[in-house]
Amino acid sequence: MPASPAAGTFGGVSDCLFCRILEGDVPSEEVLATEGVYAFRDINPQAPTHVLVIPREHIESADTVEAHHGDVLAEMVLAAQRVARADGIVDGGYRLVWNVGDDAGNTVPHLHLHVLGGRRMAWPPG
Ligand code: 5GP
Ligand code: ZN
Repeated sequence: MPASPAAGTFGGVSDCLFCRILEGDVPSEEVLATEGVYAFRDINPQAPTHVLVIPREHIESADTVEAHHGDVLAEMVLAAQRVARADGIVDGGYRLVWNVGDDAGNTVPHLHLHVLGGRRMAWPPG
């Protein structure tokens, strides 16, 4: 039985949207939950599979990741693998994205790994 998002966050930031999702204050469509991370469907999907994997700990972005975050980063990637398998997009291929800062289109200041798949994607990205 996976932990519910209401299992919450640690170091949560009350005005952070994704911390509020972790606390259950903002509803989300759960895909999977582990001790350290939570995965849910993006509200504005850019592909048939578009899932966000977030750490329960409030980390602002990939640019503020520190060496001691190594375990939770690995947990995020392992969760992304599980999402891809569950959604059946491994054979077709999928894309993992970390947006950092304005030029990359980063809008939510809580680290999140986009898992995108289920359609052919272009490179370079727009
Ligand atoms: P970013 O642009 O920061 O890399 O990604 C933020 C993502 O969060 C966007 O893809 C956006 O659609 C998604 N998002 C923003 N607000 C919500 C929300 O309230 N619920 C969910 N499920 N996704 C959200
Ligand atoms: Zn947060």
